[in-house]
Amino acid sequence: MEVDERKNRKSALKEEKKKKKLEKKVLKKEKKAEKKEKAKQKVYSIKLVILLLIVSILLLGLTIFIFIKYNDEKNRNTDLKIELKKENKEYSDKKASLDELKAEEDDLVNIDKKIEEAKEEVYKLTIDLEQAIINGKTEYKIAYITFDDGPYYLTHSVIDVLKQKRVKATFFTIGLNKDVCFDNGYADCSIMYKKIVDNGHTIANHTYSHLIFNGLYSSTYSFITSVEQQENMIKERTGVKTNIVRFPGGSATAGSLRNSIIAELRNRGYGWVDWTAQDGDGGNLTDTTTAWNNLASTVNDSIEVILFHDYNNITYRILPDVIDWLEGRNYIILPLTYDSVKINK
Ligand SMILES: [Zn+2]
Repeated sequence: MEVDERKNRKSALKEEKKKKKLEKKVLKKEKKAEKKEKAKQKVYSIKLVILLLIVSILLLGLTIFIFIKYNDEKNRNTDLKIELKKENKEYSDKKASLDELKAEEDDLVNIDKKIEEAKEEVYKLTIDLEQAIINGKTEYKIAYITFDDGPYYLTHSVIDVLKQKRVKATFFTIGLNKDVCFDNGYADCSIMYKKIVDNGHTIANHTYSHLIFNGLYSSTYSFITSVEQQENMIKERTGVKTNIVRFPGGSATAGSLRNSIIAELRNRGYGWVDWTAQDGDGGNLTDTTTAWNNLASTVNDSIEVILFHDYNNITYRILPDVIDWLEGRNYIILPLTYDSVKINK
């Protein structure tokens, strides 16, 4: 029994030992596994850190990229802004100078209007002066200086004299063969109509052809046609509608047609005028002394219409002195107007 017991105990001990050994083995295995797990975790952590680092670097890079890009954009915007400002200023400057030009243009339009108003005023005063002279209420007299048959190249010089003497006159112009100046084959006389008007002189109608012996007086119709032809030409070149006619050679040259022509002129709104004084420059005038004698013997009345021709060099030579002489004798030199008492209607 005792032996059995001992045997049993021994066997139990052995079993115990075996069990412990097994436990130890298991424990060891577990520890190893745990160690392995720890190592695995460490590697994982390292990987995670590396990954995070990479992501951080990428994020930083992206941030820097965006920042640079933003700065570029900002700089570009600033440049654009400066450019825009510059353009804007240029535009403002241009607009300001345009406005200035526009104002100047308006002024010019107003100047034309003012000149027209001043002209109207002078015309009105002229008529008042005529009445005062006729009624003996003034010592002043009027001389209407007129030039026939132009324009010629010499008309430039005649206008210069009138300008220097601050005097306005009347030009009874014709139109035939005036593209080339008769007294200067190199000059164009068709520009002179405008020059006469621009200088403030009265432009008047002396018929287009002036062909006294070649059809002008063959009928009332041919005369009126020539007047209208000249009218259209002057209107086209100057914008002015004439209303004063002078018969080429004088109204007496019309002979039996005179009254009929006058009636037709009146129907069309034209007045007409001959002359009361002259220096004879339409004839064979050879020297200034004769011209002076002719003029002095014909200037008597308180309102004179003086006949000159702007092709005549003798008249041109004495013209400055003639103006001084007339003004010295109390004559006011004026341009003819339709309303003047000297215009027959
Ligand atoms: Zn004539």
